[in-house]
Amino acid sequence: MTTASPPATADALPSSLVQSLLAHAVAGGAPAVEVFAPATGAKIVDLPQSSTDDIETAFATAREAQRRWAERPVRERVAVLRRFHDIVLAEQDTILDIVQTETGKARAHAFDEVGDVAVNARYYASVAGRLLATRKPRGVLPVLTQVDVRHRPKGVVAVISPWNYPLALAASDALPALVAGNAVVARPDNQTALTALWAIDAAVRAGLPRGLWQAVLGRGSVIGGEVIARADYVDYTGSSATGRTIAQQAGERLIGYSLELGGKNPLLVLADADVSRAAKIAIRACFASAGQLCESMERIYVHDSVYDRFVAEFVGHVEAIRLGGGLDYDSDMGSLTFRRQLDTVVAHVNDAVAKGAKVLAGGRARPDLGPYFYEPTVLAGVRPGMTVHREETFGPVVSIYRVSSDDEAVEQANDTAYGLNASVWTKDTARGRAVAARIHAGSVNVNEGFIAAWGSADAPSGGLGISGTGRRHGPEGLLKYIDTQTIAVQRLLPIAPLPGMSEALWAKTMTLYFGVMKALRQK
Ligand code: NAD
Repeated sequence: MTTASPPATADALPSSLVQSLLAHAVAGGAPAVEVFAPATGAKIVDLPQSSTDDIETAFATAREAQRRWAERPVRERVAVLRRFHDIVLAEQDTILDIVQTETGKARAHAFDEVGDVAVNARYYASVAGRLLATRKPRGVLPVLTQVDVRHRPKGVVAVISPWNYPLALAASDALPALVAGNAVVARPDNQTALTALWAIDAAVRAGLPRGLWQAVLGRGSVIGGEVIARADYVDYTGSSATGRTIAQQAGERLIGYSLELGGKNPLLVLADADVSRAAKIAIRACFASAGQLCESMERIYVHDSVYDRFVAEFVGHVEAIRLGGGLDYDSDMGSLTFRRQLDTVVAHVNDAVAKGAKVLAGGRARPDLGPYFYEPTVLAGVRPGMTVHREETFGPVVSIYRVSSDDEAVEQANDTAYGLNASVWTKDTARGRAVAARIHAGSVNVNEGFIAAWGSADAPSGGLGISGTGRRHGPEGLLKYIDTQTIAVQRLLPIAPLPGMSEALWAKTMTLYFGVMKALRQK
């Protein structure tokens, strides 16, 4: 494992840029917090924090802006998304620098976020008109009953996003909310607030009215409740433990919510897999953003007949990974983002080793590169009772298990309360689909790790079990931000007995009518 380029420095973010971004935050009423670059430990910013009054102001402004925005034709809202797409791609160097500086991740993994946001902006721009059009279903009495199903935006949506994919998780969930006619009050993580503020800034430059998408700043445990108390819908991404708290708070107010939570994702290498390809792609699937990716693989189940070959090739690739924090494409994996992430990784690996697991690659912190670097790590011999066996590490640690059949692989893969993402490797795609359908996960990638499903913007993404409820991407990722309103207009005749008609004759007439409708195959 070699060091690539020199670490990022906080100088990468000019103070004029930082100050202009902070203008999109409604904050300053509470004491600022210092934010440091994970790769170097250098200070990035004194980040202002939001008081309750700031949050109140943000929601009042958003509510006012939303009323006007909802009256604008969908095509005008769509035009903002199209321009936003172009700005993100054109100014990618700036946002890549910000994402890397705030998270410590490698540039290639930061680029995944740029791609995600561009794809989702384009997707929702292209489908919003159709999804938001008024629907005219058949009325109870054809011709006489005319029905419109209208779509009403929820109002002000709170997007509470974490630090690991700060651009993708802040913007890709806000864009469908905005195009559906909502305002968004974002609560990005303090560590990565500048990334979210850059997305807001880009949207304003793309034509989004000011005040429609704002950020409030503060620790979730401090201001999360204040945000949820004022929101009309909550979109939350983070751990399953916090997800429960959010659901309780939203439930108390009877507002809708979408929760995108943790995972302990399995990758299955079946006996007929292209082993070399699986070993290569599994690297990205396990170590993107140093494993701080909800979709990343933490468990690999390999069929006995290809186990030795897979392990040899996979470990070879792991050992070639270039660690570094430079603002360029010369490193393959960056730093962890927090001390607490590093502590969790160290604790999981040490616990496994103390209980008999074997380290096949990595297994060491690398303070020589930066305060939170840790080597990509492969464990074998992991057994029940070891923390890493069941708990999400959310770091660059993967355990490899030997299995003797597809059935055993599926059984082991499903031995978890999580159900976010999975990957199946086989040359027989029909077999891959069949195995995938048996896996308890919201998405399963056959011959890919996570990008095939995640990057297909027209397909919903989300978790089963404790990995969450609700979906992002696809029509579901927009429709969650609207309420339907049914307007039924009855013409000429009422739906009741005609004057002089008895209830008994009315019942007979309607029974006849229902029979005719069934015979005509009408619903
Ligand atoms: P966390 O739940 O501790 O924090 C996530 C975010 O929620 C943070 O920004 C935090 O400030 C905020 N938060 C905490 N308490 C809050 C509260 N009471 N109200 C409102 N906000 C609150 O999780 P973490 O450990 O920082 O993040 C990693 C977790 O997120 C992992 O479990 C990971 O799998 C999950 N995650 C899931 C997805 C997904 O799409 N399913 C994506 C990224 C991360």
